[in-house]
Amino acid sequence: MEFKFTETQDKLRAEVRSFLEEELKHGSFEPSNDAWIDGYSKEFSRKVGAKGWIGTIWPKGYGGKEWSFVDRLIITEELLRFGAPVAYHWMSDRQCGPCVIAYGSDEQRKDILPRIIKGEVSFALGMSEPDSGSDLASLQTRAVETEDAFIINGQKIWTSGAHEADYIYLVARTDPDVPKHKGISEFIVDLKLPGITVKPIVDMMNSHHFNEVYFDSVRVPKSALVGERNRGWYQIAVQLDYERSGLERIMSPYPMFHMMLDLARQEPVLYNNPEVRHKLTDLVVKFEVGRLLIYRVAWTLSQGRVPNFESAMAKIYGTAFEQHLSHMATQVLGLSGQLMEDSRWAPLRGLASRSYLFCAGATLRGGTSEILRNIVALRGLGLPSQ
Ligand SMILES: Cc1cc2nc3c(=O)[nH]c(=O)nc-3n(C[C@H](O)[C@H](O)[C@H](O)COP(=O)(O)OP(=O)(O)OC[C@H]3O[C@@H](n4cnc5c(N)ncnc54)[C@H](O)[C@@H]3O)c2cc1C
Repeated sequence: MEFKFTETQDKLRAEVRSFLEEELKHGSFEPSNDAWIDGYSKEFSRKVGAKGWIGTIWPKGYGGKEWSFVDRLIITEELLRFGAPVAYHWMSDRQCGPCVIAYGSDEQRKDILPRIIKGEVSFALGMSEPDSGSDLASLQTRAVETEDAFIINGQKIWTSGAHEADYIYLVARTDPDVPKHKGISEFIVDLKLPGITVKPIVDMMNSHHFNEVYFDSVRVPKSALVGERNRGWYQIAVQLDYERSGLERIMSPYPMFHMMLDLARQEPVLYNNPEVRHKLTDLVVKFEVGRLLIYRVAWTLSQGRVPNFESAMAKIYGTAFEQHLSHMATQVLGLSGQLMEDSRWAPLRGLASRSYLFCAGATLRGGTSEILRNIVALRGLGLPSQ
């Protein structure tokens, strides 16, 4: 079966590609793996905003274009394909903006949305805590309401990009005396407020991409509450569906994949090796399957349905693929690849060794594969919970 895009969508893809080719030509970025989570460039995000490619699916009344989810996926696919540095606006466009539209106050919408669309606002996601990851509803960070503010105390962990972001989309407990899912609220908190400390966590690649974030009696205005007090858990569920469902779940190491295929076309030692040929063909087929699973999620959203088990499936598949790909890259490079003096091998070596380490987190971040399999079992297959 062949799935075709519309003519307008093909034009949009070509426009995004030619923008990225120009930017590459002028050296405004170096293609890199994981650039949606790790590649921060305010300047580049502003350029994407100026092209009108952020907030495209949002209602026109909020500055959006009311394009389809598939249109948005075409833009993000090209940005990921080129490994462009889009982390600064990624969370804002993907999930924080849509949450403000769905649950925010008019004041929040007026303040935040136009800035997101211009690529001028970066969000970090303040969900996980040292003792609350998969069981997020057990979180302990407290937000206590006073006459004119909420006072926040607690700690978040693994907060990607908190050292680069302007705001943290914070999930905190507002009522400790009710069942755990019922006492949680969401807040937009300015990371510059007094009492907030962002501490780097250096990962096993010796790089700093995530953080611990401490809240010590941080006073946030009441206007920072998003949606209804104590209804945060139900709001988060929708946010997580958006978080899991993008092409970043299969294309994080795409620049490395692309480079590996190119090298295999040029190097006899690779293309004459039947084992390498089989491995690469297998990867290309698996990639296309994952890509279709993710387009299916966008299509489900375009039908007005929230794709929770579909997005869980796509994330399980996509992140397993990323790990498989990263492991295959080191095998394809092999021992000879480690020794090749030729400069064509060196960039792939760099990307592959980084990817081998970074991909370990792919099946954890945004919900672990085990938790997502539970979602597929319960909501997709309708299996009983006990
Ligand atoms: C690269 C990276 C970036 C991240 N960025 C962010 C971020 O920006 N913001 C944020 O808030 N968090 C972030 N996280 C944290 C991430 O969301 C958590 O790591 C994840 O939710 C798992 O929680 P945990 O690490 O506490 O593991 P745990 O919940 O302690 O789980 C440990 C293991 O037990 C398994 N397990 C747990 N419960 C069950 C169950 N019921 N059934 C079956 N198996 C189970 C899990 O699958 C896992 O294998 C990031 C993580 C990584 C790796």
